[in-house]
Amino acid sequence: MFTVAAVRLGYRVHVLTDSADSPAAQVAHSSTVASYGDVDAVSSFASRVDALTLEFENVSSSALERAHQHTVVRPGVKALATTQNRGREKAFLARHGFSQVPFEQPSGAGALEAAILALGLPCVVKSAGFGYDGKGQVVVTAPGDLPAAEALAAAGPVVVEQLVELAAELSVVAARSCRGEVVTYAPFLNMHHQQVLDLSLAPIDYSPAGLAGTSWEGSAALLTPVLLREAVEVAQAVVTELELVGVACVEFFVTSAGQLLVNEIAPRPHNSGHLTIEAAITSQFEQQVRAVAGLPLGSPELRAPAAMANLLGDLWQAHQPDWAAALGLPGAALHLYGKEAARPGRKMGHITVSAGTAARAQAAAVTARQALTSGR
Ligand code: ADP
Ligand code: MG
Repeated sequence: MFTVAAVRLGYRVHVLTDSADSPAAQVAHSSTVASYGDVDAVSSFASRVDALTLEFENVSSSALERAHQHTVVRPGVKALATTQNRGREKAFLARHGFSQVPFEQPSGAGALEAAILALGLPCVVKSAGFGYDGKGQVVVTAPGDLPAAEALAAAGPVVVEQLVELAAELSVVAARSCRGEVVTYAPFLNMHHQQVLDLSLAPIDYSPAGLAGTSWEGSAALLTPVLLREAVEVAQAVVTELELVGVACVEFFVTSAGQLLVNEIAPRPHNSGHLTIEAAITSQFEQQVRAVAGLPLGSPELRAPAAMANLLGDLWQAHQPDWAAALGLPGAALHLYGKEAARPGRKMGHITVSAGTAARAQAAAVTARQALTSGR
């Protein structure tokens, strides 16, 4: 989606990817197939481009430092090093006084159990690096879950978080230019299913009726204009403190006590911001292109309320989804990423719908997604 936005602005995009048929390689002008940890390959790639950016944060920092000797690297080595490790990210948040979930960073044998005891049950153990879509996480609700948590901790560094009772999840996508100018989208309201993003909608209409029919409808009273403004201000401060050039997303928890906590930071366009492709004046991907190219940022204003429904590989399990049925619904915009294997839980595409209210857009997006499998 970054490549599509860059090509539209007249750029030639060269991708470094670990598989020849990756989604970006399908639309880029050229591609280099190499591992993201291959310092020499990343460095030689960097010597052949005017600017380098990422849509995946788990590229080795040493490779990026070498790349930085040849070309501009955006979002920047500091922002990436901080956000690609949950431990460093939490330390950064704590240092700058951003509220987050109570956590521990156990190190060494026996430390995991002590950390879990200190936080109390339920808690969640997360691998410090390389996690996504709930992968590399073990929820500990009872002593029986300890062996799985120990196994995760034996595989590499972990953090342990208190499992908080969620009243809602929000995210704020922010873009920052090389001149330090920041623009933010209004917060997106997110719904997860089995720790994977399922639906996002915007703008958040905090009137009780505005969230009717969404899974957070009981939380409308907590999503006050003051809380939403605070989320935007935190996101602005986070990208500024990280000296990030590009796009980042700050994911938030709203607890049942009405606290706003930072969950995590993604140093790139985010799944919850995909609805900006149709619904905003400037999409999150175009903002990244503009930031990387040193251009002015665009307007983050929404043209209309919108909702996005993710399409996971599960939809492919019985039959090929019925694309015509979904596209027969007026206003449904379908995105398929060109991933080869439709594995259960794998994000294969999404559907965005705009409507008069975000809740109506959500209902329409869900209907369009259901149409993919309902006739078969
Ligand atoms: P990922 O990198 O997979 O997005 P997250 O840390 O964002 O990892 O976790 C995925 C989802 O799991 C969150 O969006 C939230 O729904 C749930 N979750 C994660 N950590 C907690 C927590 N400490 N308390 C409650 N829910 C959590
Ligand atoms: Mg997340």
